[in-house]
Amino acid sequence: MSQDFDHLIIGAGISGLGAAHFSARRGLSTLVLEANERVGGCINSQRFDDLGGFWVEAGGHTCFNSYGNLLDILDDLGLTEQVQPKLKVGYRLWKDGARRSITSALHLGEALASLPRLFSEPKAGRRVADYYSRVLGQRNYEDLLRYAFQAVICQPADDYPAEALFRKKPRRKEVIKAFTFNGGLSSIAEAIAAGSGIEVRTAQRVGSIAHSAEGFEVRIDGGKVVRARHLTLAVPPPVAAGLLPEGFEAARVALDGMEMAEIETLVLVARNTDLARLKPIAGLIAIEDAFYSAVSRDFLPDPAHRGFAFHFRPGALDAEAQRARACQTLDLNPAQIVAECRVHNRLPVLRPGHAERIARLDAALAGTPLAMTGNWFLGVSMEDALTRSRAESDRLFGAPV
Ligand SMILES: Cc1cc2nc3c(=O)[nH]c(=O)nc-3n(C[C@H](O)[C@H](O)[C@H](O)COP(=O)(O)OP(=O)(O)OC[C@H]3O[C@@H](n4cnc5c(N)ncnc54)[C@H](O)[C@@H]3O)c2cc1C
Repeated sequence: MSQDFDHLIIGAGISGLGAAHFSARRGLSTLVLEANERVGGCINSQRFDDLGGFWVEAGGHTCFNSYGNLLDILDDLGLTEQVQPKLKVGYRLWKDGARRSITSALHLGEALASLPRLFSEPKAGRRVADYYSRVLGQRNYEDLLRYAFQAVICQPADDYPAEALFRKKPRRKEVIKAFTFNGGLSSIAEAIAAGSGIEVRTAQRVGSIAHSAEGFEVRIDGGKVVRARHLTLAVPPPVAAGLLPEGFEAARVALDGMEMAEIETLVLVARNTDLARLKPIAGLIAIEDAFYSAVSRDFLPDPAHRGFAFHFRPGALDAEAQRARACQTLDLNPAQIVAECRVHNRLPVLRPGHAERIARLDAALAGTPLAMTGNWFLGVSMEDALTRSRAESDRLFGAPV
């Protein structure tokens, strides 16, 4: 069986694009197949052409100078110089129908009394609720942190593994601490996809995969087949479980029961003049509401427009009620919305015991030419995803010289 490519990657989110970059840098012929019309997956800068290209992040919005793998890729592509600092604006709470300061929900005495436990309390294997109630106090957790954390992961946070929420990574001090790009973070995905040695085919949903001693045979919906010696699955866990070829039963069993959190994202744009009463904000953290969080575009001000992405719980409100709730939080009349769009986001649901699950999966993949990556190995951040992509690339092809 002749091979079309050395390495085929399924999924053009940051995990798959990172895997493609690491592979192409090794001189391997690399193809990425993506089901959507666009690359980026959860990185999704929604551009409004009739508003002069104004954009709002409907998914991932911030990169940090602790994202070492991402910065390595940006270095390779000559993009590190182009990072844009984010204006320092703060988050506010949305509670009981009003915007409030974060400190209004903080119990300072309790935080100070609990904080020393930060140095002694074990994190591994603990739920977010258990660990953070100990190190910052029960009332702080219940009144503030629970909502702040669920705003980060866009799903209930109590049962999430504490070690997967934030991961300390070394910072590259010469780079701005928190950054974006002039055209939004989709610029990163588009630049990686356009990198030399990488071919990306969009609107190609993979339906099934067969594996033999010669390699992988990947069947795209519609019937087309592509062959490759090495394969990387960079898709959400339920999709990966469905695509695993015969011979990988142990890997499929390791994925059993992994779920995705569905997020109904509403992106709204209004004129600056119609939002004059709302000071610049990073976003809103909702306390007990139908949305987890709203992220604004105020970090990169535009002369004419402001934009917001509201991340709603699935099924909590219908489309009209979501719009009304979003407008209420912004003191905006719905008639003043100049552009809007809806995006279906999905993020993996991780649970304690996740590290053991991944260890079982890795044992099943060891020694095979199949790699798996995604935002569901170490954590959901883009850098967590790229850390996995790099490790899998090294496993398949050896550490680069
Ligand atoms: C609202 C929100 C805010 C976030 N904010 C941040 C942030 O500020 N900073 C940060 O670091 N991270 C953030 N994240 C997390 C981060 O953006 C994501 O975890 C990461 O981008 C996921 O990348 P991925 O490639 O693993 O998965 P995805 O982006 O989900 O990519 C998977 C890709 O696989 C494709 N696919 C699926 N099935 C098939 C198939 N059968 N055939 C072909 N292709 C298929 C999908 O279309 C998709 O493009 C945020 C996420 C969300 C949703």
